[in-house]
Amino acid sequence: MRIVSLAGGIGGARFLRGLLTTAPDSEITVIGNTGDDISLFGLRVCPDLDTVMYTLGGGINEEQGWGRREESHVVKEELAAYGVEPQWFGLGDRDFATHIVRTQMLDAGYPLSAVTEALCARWQPGVRLIPMSDDRTETHVVISDERGRRAVHFQEWWVRLRASVPAEQIILVGADQAVPAPGVLEAVAAADVVLLPPSNPVVSIGTILQIKGIREALEGKTVVGVSPIVGGAPVRGMADACLTAIGVPTTAQAVLELYGPALVDGWLVAEEDAGVALDGVEVEARPLIMHDLDSAAALARAALDMAVRLASPVTSTPSPTDTPATDTPRTDVSPGEGA
Ligand code: GDP
Ligand code: CA
Repeated sequence: MRIVSLAGGIGGARFLRGLLTTAPDSEITVIGNTGDDISLFGLRVCPDLDTVMYTLGGGINEEQGWGRREESHVVKEELAAYGVEPQWFGLGDRDFATHIVRTQMLDAGYPLSAVTEALCARWQPGVRLIPMSDDRTETHVVISDERGRRAVHFQEWWVRLRASVPAEQIILVGADQAVPAPGVLEAVAAADVVLLPPSNPVVSIGTILQIKGIREALEGKTVVGVSPIVGGAPVRGMADACLTAIGVPTTAQAVLELYGPALVDGWLVAEEDAGVALDGVEVEARPLIMHDLDSAAALARAALDMAVRLASPVTSTPSPTDTPATDTPRTDVSPGEGA
């Protein structure tokens, strides 16, 4: 089974760890968000790629959900002692090493996709992790504060300001020029099913969908998404502030409508959101909170089972003459027909 999954940071990484647990023999390609990437102290930092890599590779700080476990912060303290800014972005000593290696390789001329593959050679995440694009794109947020109306890097709005200032606009700088990284469209074309984990619909999934050709490629596949919104609120973090910025209510229904029936074939919501419905999309209610590995694996299994069912021609194109879906597949259909 070939599975493609998009991914942001924490929500994506935890879902993927569940997916690997429940479908260990599948071939999983992860298209990672790089809109959150930022250059700090001369180093290129890719928070979402690293969260996926560390989580699946066993190096994550479990309590935080990002950064390295058994981390120390000597370099950060020393930088602060020099008064070097920014001091609001937490980089630990072990994490610094990743960014040093990445920056060295980028400076030597390797594309980000090759650098990511090299970093994953150490972490062995069990999936093929590809950045959405080798081209530099960055999410910027337009805000108004005492310094006037201006655009700040997404990380400054998210981490320093904790999204407390309303986002007037969220822009992916460089989106017009960016093309998918090598392997992205090929993996989508070869995929049996595509999964959208409960990552941020605006600045994680929404960002990846802005890269030329990715949304169109996904629209041709069977796609099942998991709602990051439960009972009108994000499960973790401040995704509501991002949705508000693009005029979308913080509900599982509105996020489904944002993705739309051309993209999504199936949508998993929490039991309290069981009323969600949209023409052309199958909706199922499931426990949606990933408390631990077991609940993450059960959620991933539910998404995968739904996707496999929707991808099967017998159940997805019923006609009055069809045998019931539980029966063995029709034999009057030649291979490939109705796919
Ligand atoms: P980030 O880049 O670290 O912000 O992570 P992602 O974009 O991958 O995911 C953030 C989203 O994951 C938030 O909108 C959360 O609501 C959602 N999320 C986090 N944990 C869970 C969970 O256990 N269940 C569900 N359904 N969503 C979750
Ligand atoms: Ca992120």
